[in-house]
Amino acid sequence: MTWFKREDNDLPAIRRGTVRTEGLWIKCPTCQQAIFKADLEANLNVCPKCAHHFRIDARRRIGLLLESGYQLVDLELRSTDPLQFTDLKRYAHRLSEARRKTGLNDAIVNAIGQLGPHSVVLSVMEYAFIGGSMGAVVGETIARAIDRSLATRHPLIIVAASGGARMMEGIVSLMQLAKIAAGLARLDDAKIPYISLMTDPTTGGVTASFAMLGDLNIAEPGALIGFAGPRVIEQTTRQKLPPGFQRSEFLMEHGFLDAIVPRKELKSYLANALSWMVPQS
Ligand SMILES: [Zn+2]
Repeated sequence: MTWFKREDNDLPAIRRGTVRTEGLWIKCPTCQQAIFKADLEANLNVCPKCAHHFRIDARRRIGLLLESGYQLVDLELRSTDPLQFTDLKRYAHRLSEARRKTGLNDAIVNAIGQLGPHSVVLSVMEYAFIGGSMGAVVGETIARAIDRSLATRHPLIIVAASGGARMMEGIVSLMQLAKIAAGLARLDDAKIPYISLMTDPTTGGVTASFAMLGDLNIAEPGALIGFAGPRVIEQTTRQKLPPGFQRSEFLMEHGFLDAIVPRKELKSYLANALSWMVPQS
């Protein structure tokens, strides 16, 4: 009897070039490196090599910021498609597709819970729902978050991730800018703090209203933040825009932001900020 015996290798041979790796790896748009998806997840969806901040969905964001035991609220509102709008597709069709894809009724989720020692009202936009666009439902949901803050005197945090107003709702979507701004003014009168966190991307009517109205306006690194897109501005002004234009770092340098906070430090940054913003009782 021999010590070693080579068994017949009965594993099926894999043809060269057919190894399936797609779906497991993702290419970082900043450093171009391939990142193992599980590593990216474990690192809060921040590139472990260059700290590029990938987008995360609303529910993950809420889980990162609030202690367990938080409650999701105001989820029942649905758009009525007031204009019966159709572009390439019917708006009603876009809505049902987005609902199926995200499991949400619209591009926002309200939550109430604890952030460190502080009770807060948190409103988080969902970019995967028609580009995080703001229509009547997003406006009303934020208005309800403001009402919750007014009723409980708990500070409000809104996390923006949006392509702007929802064109398919026309003037109804534009009305939300004024509606939310008026609500935030009431919050200000009541001396209840509001922190705006801008994530990639924060643009259009969202930048033009609540995203820039925080007592503290902060952003994640490298987020696109602006009103009109760079291409539109270049075409209008006929000028080449400087590198890094409309990214968090550029805005910070020009005085539009109070701080840029990496995702890993967000929770402790917010807890600390609230501890000096909220009057001690
Ligand atoms: Zn990277």
